[in-house]
Amino acid sequence: MSDPNEVRGTAGDIARALDDAGIPNILWGYAALGLVGQVKVSNDIDFVVSDELVQKATDILIVKGYELCTSRKCPWGDERKRARALAAAHFDIVPDKKNLGPVQIFPKSHILWWLKKIPAGDPSPDDEDLLLTNDPRLPPKLKTRSASSPIERDLYGNYTEEVGPSGPWEKIYPMKILKPESFTEALILLYCRDYHNPNIGDGLQLGYDKYWKRLLLPMGEVKVDPKAIVPKTLRPEFREAWANFNLVEQPYFWEFFHDDLCAKLKKQNKLPSFPGIFRLYQ
Ligand SMILES: [Zn+2]
Repeated sequence: MSDPNEVRGTAGDIARALDDAGIPNILWGYAALGLVGQVKVSNDIDFVVSDELVQKATDILIVKGYELCTSRKCPWGDERKRARALAAAHFDIVPDKKNLGPVQIFPKSHILWWLKKIPAGDPSPDDEDLLLTNDPRLPPKLKTRSASSPIERDLYGNYTEEVGPSGPWEKIYPMKILKPESFTEALILLYCRDYHNPNIGDGLQLGYDKYWKRLLLPMGEVKVDPKAIVPKTLRPEFREAWANFNLVEQPYFWEFFHDDLCAKLKKQNKLPSFPGIFRLYQ
C-alpha cells in the first residue's frame, strides 16, 4: 500500500509536465476521488486529455523516463482480465517509485464527452465543472477513526482511517479536477452509457458499469458516519436518479436507479453508445 501523498505528488509532477508541454489535462479516477468524495486506497494515476493530445501526452511521459507498456498480456492492458476502464496508453510503474502505478492516459471522448474543451491553465473561478486540487472550496479533510486504545496504538501506531474526503492538496502542484457535482454526474453518465454494454459478450470479464459503480459508491450520500458525506446538488436532470441511488432501503434492484434517466438521455440523443476499446498502440 502506498502513501497517498506519494500518489498525489507524482500526479502533480505529471500534470506539471503536461501543462508545460501545452497539454490541458484533468486528474481523474481513484486518485481524484478522494478530493470530491472519499479517499480510496489505490495506486492508479489517471489523466484525461483531449483525444488529439493523447499521443503527445504519452510521448511526454516517455521523455520523463516512464516505460510505456504495450503488452496485450499485461493485466492493465487486457480487456479480458481488466475490471477497470481501458486506457489509450498506460505505464505500469512510475520510474524510481516501483510501488506506484499504473499511470494511464484516457481520451476525453471516452470519459468526459459532454464536457467543454479542457482549458489550458487554471479554470476560471466560475467554471461550472472544474476546479483545482488546492481549491479551498473542496470538502474539508475528515479523519473519522483514529487508534482509540493502547492496544490499537501498539498494533497500528497513530493510524487514522480516512473514510471521507482528503481535503484540498495544498502542498502539491495544482491540477484540474471535476467538482464533486460534475464528477458525480460524469460517473452516472458513464454508468448509463455502459450499463450492460454489448462488449461483455466480447470477453470483458466485467462490464465497465461495475467499475463506474465502484467509483460512484464513495460519492454516495448515505454513509455510516454522516460527517463523511459530501452533499451535492446535481443538475436537475440527474436529481431523481441520484435520489434513487441514495435511498437507504432499495425497493428494487439497485442497478435500476438510473433507468428513467437513461431512457430520457437516449431520447434526447445525449447518451453515446459504448465507444469500444481504443489503444494508442495496438
Ligand atoms: Zn502494462
